[in-house]
Amino acid sequence: MTQADIQELLERRERLLGPGNPLFYDDPVHLVRGEGVWLHGDDGTRYLDCYNNVPCVGHCHPRVVEALCAQAGTLNTHTRYLHENILDYAERLLDKFDDSLDRVALACTGSEANDLAMRIARVDTGADGFICTNATYHGNTTAVSQLNSIFQPVGGYGKHIRMVPWPDSYRAPNGLDGEALAGHYADEVAAAIESLQRSDAGFAGMLVCPLFANEGLPTIPEGYLARVMELVHDAGGVFIADEVQSGFGRTGRWWGHEQGGIVPDVVTLGKPMGGGHPIAGVVARGELLDNYRRHEMYFNTFGGNPVSCAVAMAVIDVIDDEGLVENAADVGRYVLEAFRDLQSRYEVIGDVRGSGLFFGIDLVTDRDSKAPAADTARAVVNNMRHKGVLMSKIGEHDNVLKLRPPLCFSKDNADLLVATLDKVLAQL
Ligand code: PMP
Repeated sequence: MTQADIQELLERRERLLGPGNPLFYDDPVHLVRGEGVWLHGDDGTRYLDCYNNVPCVGHCHPRVVEALCAQAGTLNTHTRYLHENILDYAERLLDKFDDSLDRVALACTGSEANDLAMRIARVDTGADGFICTNATYHGNTTAVSQLNSIFQPVGGYGKHIRMVPWPDSYRAPNGLDGEALAGHYADEVAAAIESLQRSDAGFAGMLVCPLFANEGLPTIPEGYLARVMELVHDAGGVFIADEVQSGFGRTGRWWGHEQGGIVPDVVTLGKPMGGGHPIAGVVARGELLDNYRRHEMYFNTFGGNPVSCAVAMAVIDVIDDEGLVENAADVGRYVLEAFRDLQSRYEVIGDVRGSGLFFGIDLVTDRDSKAPAADTARAVVNNMRHKGVLMSKIGEHDNVLKLRPPLCFSKDNADLLVATLDKVLAQL
């Protein structure tokens, strides 16, 4: 495609979809094909995908494509007819969780899953109030957008929402660390619970990503999640782990909450669940979902259809058969070490953190003040794109390089990523 063709595509997009549609990169990428960890542009450029967690088993994995085609060519209806696929999948999925999490409801997007989780908590507690963090995103329904601190919801925030500081251990308040830091952030949650209990809304629950991925993927202070979950339970609330980003092996464990040493009451799933096909879900303690279903009929036309379940089953099969959880842990450690080596050579890297194949590189203008270097992060992301490596940035200050490649990422892929990042940092 020529520059003129790209310009025409951009204009067509704006005319048809409107001007506010977000696109990655100053110079957007036009993709035509994907395979494993690679994405191919229309001009023959091959990009190493270090960003997309949705195709968790790799782009267009043949077993996933085959499962999709076979079921799509046989039958696709919805869950009001009997079909084995949803049951086979439910058994397989629930097997990956603690025994207490023994029910599942299926949906199509992470937003829907979080919306349903909030309703489950509302029914359980008879209250409306929720706690989230002050730098996050959980989805786009009216109810869930109340928990988004990155974008203001239409109409502003309701009185039933309390935002607490996310557990930042790099720019920690008063130089606190360890248990003292966990205690500091847990106190903020205790205060938010009390505030909701005193309000008309009451306290229904807390919904957080167990990795605080959108916040900037912090190194979570030891014991923080367990302390916070105890506070939530003591107040009669429901603890919801949004595993839309952190689930399905990303961290080198099946679920992000395992790393925090907790078992949530409700876990919401999405993105990687169907390897690119839209399927999402809520996994919960049986009594919570059963109680909810006594109060409201939940039906989702596309959620849990036979094709989606066949695809999602193939995703779990591939993760297991190809050892991708172990690969995430192993290659993840290798990448983290290489990033730490870059940190020792480039002042701009203030902090390197992550688990499994999920990394955050916190860029700073100077290491003493830890002032966030958002412009540099933007330049790095754009320059990496021009050198054939796709990644992005996140965080409260928009200065954290975000890397989250498909789980089949190899050490060779990692070498290419690190060598390219080295070149880009050297040219800053
Ligand atoms: N939760 C988290 C943590 C997310 O990052 C996102 C999407 N970025 C969502 C929920 C919403 O998922 P979806 O876009 O599938 O509705």
